[in-house]
Amino acid sequence: MIDKQKLIARFISYVTIDTESDPNSETTPSSEKQWNLAKKLAKELEGMGMEDVSIDKNAYVMATLPSNVGHEVPTIGFISHFDTTPDYTGANVNPQIIENYDGKDIVLDAKENIVLSPDYFEDLLLYKGQTLITTDGTTLLGADDKAGITEIMEAMKYLLAHPEIKHGKIRVGFTPDEEIGRGAHKFDVEKFGADWAYTMDGSQIGELEYENFNAAGAKVKVKGKIVHPGYAKGKMVNSMLIANEFIAALPQYEIPQETEGYEGFFHLYSISGKVEETHLEYIIRDHDRQKFEDRKALIQEIAATMNKAYGRAVIELELKDQYYNMREKVEPVMHIVAIAEEAMKELGIKPLIKAIRGGTDGSQLSYMGLPCPNIFAGGHNFHGRYEYVPVESMIKATEVIVKIAELTAEKFDR
Ligand SMILES: [Zn+2]
Repeated sequence: MIDKQKLIARFISYVTIDTESDPNSETTPSSEKQWNLAKKLAKELEGMGMEDVSIDKNAYVMATLPSNVGHEVPTIGFISHFDTTPDYTGANVNPQIIENYDGKDIVLDAKENIVLSPDYFEDLLLYKGQTLITTDGTTLLGADDKAGITEIMEAMKYLLAHPEIKHGKIRVGFTPDEEIGRGAHKFDVEKFGADWAYTMDGSQIGELEYENFNAAGAKVKVKGKIVHPGYAKGKMVNSMLIANEFIAALPQYEIPQETEGYEGFFHLYSISGKVEETHLEYIIRDHDRQKFEDRKALIQEIAATMNKAYGRAVIELELKDQYYNMREKVEPVMHIVAIAEEAMKELGIKPLIKAIRGGTDGSQLSYMGLPCPNIFAGGHNFHGRYEYVPVESMIKATEVIVKIAELTAEKFDR
């Protein structure tokens, strides 16, 4: 079976390397320090006996576990990202190991009174009796997505040590810059050469996802006219007040804090304004492609109607699609979801299939020709000091990878 202590040691060796990505950088990887982990991973893959280990000029790491069966089996891939979010510091991570978790408060930082409590984070109670890895309250943990990397590495090591488990060719891919939306951008799908893949980047044990939002961004520029306020009658046009009208014209309840499940939204995330000019920034989200198109049409219509009412172009609108729902690309090959589901069931894990209210690297990869559902990596409370991961979930995720490899070879044995 998977060696728990070795898995923990591997995970800690990854999270203690700072790999925070940088949205203000134009390079790939966006931060120099991501190379430190990328190079370590390439070296370890070689050391364990993987083949075709490569690291390209953008720090994408790939490797192959060759097939050990005589018949044709599709090539499958497993992908994780090694950067951590710029939303919270990932420097000097000091992981805390809590064995046999008792279901009570976990004091992360006694001095600052930072407590990880099941009163607030109820999910903790799912893991009573298990081994948890937490932060010391001053950094994020980086289980997102170094848990995924650990699981893929441990699964490959296990398969190499157990040739009696039959599998086809397996590709492994580790990417930079997922957290700033660029993990897939320079991913060489052709070189990867897999028929399909899975990102190991979900949260709670059992998560399996193949639907995500369709996404667009809208930049709205509102143009006013500045005149001395004492002499402004009939002359001043206050762009901030027009911006208010624009905001009010959008559906008031189709916003993040009022929606869940398959409900889409318009999210105003930035305003800056003066009398002369105001800028609004929105993201637009919907799982349904038609409703997504309707949302974009509505925002355009509001701009056009207001421009007409004012008799000039007071609103300038710039709309840009960001990513699409991978469901469109996964549905024609649903067996790839079915295999993952079956693997979980065989291991006694209850699959939690739900639509992601966001995007993943896999959604972009799916549109680049590599259908790519997302599987749990085990962590919770990503992107902050309360992040934690149960070791037992990481072991289960490792076993899911092994089982998917095995089932795929089995299914194509005819
Ligand atoms: Zn992630």
